[in-house]
Amino acid sequence: MDFDLVIRGGTIMDGTGRPGVRGDVGIRDGRIVAVGEAKGAAAQTVDAGGLVVAPGFIDVHTHYDAQVMWDRMLTISPWHGVTTVVMGNCGFGVAPTRPDHRGLIMRTLEKVEGMSLAALEAGLGEKWPFETFPEYLDAVERRGTALNVAVLLGHTPLRLYVMGEEATERPATDDEIARMRALVREAIGRGRDRLRDLEGVHPHRLRGQAGAEPGRPVRRDRGPGRGAGRRGTGHRPGHPSAATCSSRSSRASPGPPAGR
Ligand SMILES: [Zn+2]
Repeated sequence: MDFDLVIRGGTIMDGTGRPGVRGDVGIRDGRIVAVGEAKGAAAQTVDAGGLVVAPGFIDVHTHYDAQVMWDRMLTISPWHGVTTVVMGNCGFGVAPTRPDHRGLIMRTLEKVEGMSLAALEAGLGEKWPFETFPEYLDAVERRGTALNVAVLLGHTPLRLYVMGEEATERPATDDEIARMRALVREAIGRGRDRLRDLEGVHPHRLRGQAGAEPGRPVRRDRGPGRGAGRRGTGHRPGHPSAATCSSRSSRASPGPPAGR
């Protein structure tokens, strides 16, 4: 058998920016071994006539942080050819979150990201399966996802976790900034360990991926203390991050979560 799989007759967009060409893609032992012509016998053939065959897209700006808890498909990204998502953008996320702050975190996602509060409450349930950021990563991993997932630690939950509701009222103290930095270091360490555990992943393939480089702060200027002096950081619908989010078509809007 020459191929395990041949995708025949599709319009191949190879990711280089060249115009698409009609042809075949041959796969053997989990690798693409032919592009354009794939002559020979195949264990499986897929007719891609009239369809586009393309590498998976990486969406570096999504907000699936809550949705991933009830929708392992990360709807609707796969529908559009996305195979890797980066979530936790714009400083928002669901971890770390103390039980007392769950309502506030969900209302933040409702206000700033336009998510349905009812969907968030139904999807996340009464008892969230995590509190710390490492516990969140574990929870995501336990459930499994249809796509590759990279997670950023959001400034908003981090501040709320350390400062409580005063996070929206005053700048962080030096001690609080130090605690936030320690939590960021812990989160980066957890991500680094996970990358180390990945079988068959070579370091050069990880370079340039968001959040993949160990030892680098999540933000380049002042680390987790950035923005500490701004009143209401992360809780005003009109702040610049929110505007960025609203312009994104890939924004995750939780669909009806009940029973799914
Ligand atoms: Zn965003």
